[in-house]
Amino acid sequence: MRIALIAHDKKKDAMIKLAIKFKDVLAKHEIYATGTTGTLVMGETGLKIIRMKSGPLGGDQQIGSMIAENDLDLVIFLRDPLTSQPHEPDVSALLRLCDVTKTPLATNITSAEIMLKALERNEISKRK
Ligand code: PGA
Repeated sequence: MRIALIAHDKKKDAMIKLAIKFKDVLAKHEIYATGTTGTLVMGETGLKIIRMKSGPLGGDQQIGSMIAENDLDLVIFLRDPLTSQPHEPDVSALLRLCDVTKTPLATNITSAEIMLKALERNEISKRK
């Protein structure tokens, strides 16, 4: 499975904790991430992560392009709904493309945990 991890700055600690909790399951899959999220998660977990550019510098669009091609099976995007983002159009485009392609998307920690538990039980199917 190909999984993307993205976290806005105020959600990066939550993403790290999530990755630590599900490290064993994540290690069995191909993990992609935006630049800073990927560097932090990799540093804290030792997981191998394919890093895109930082989100505000085009990373969200790079992940979005993978979603458009159905190249991702699961997206975890821990958004910060209380802080305005300079790259809000890129964020909206990524979320929209998940809906267009019906790519499973979790935008908060509770839904992300549900998804990773489903992944652990092999309940999520590969998109191609
Ligand atoms: P980052 O990008 O992981 O490079 O911080 C996340 C985002 O804000 O889209």
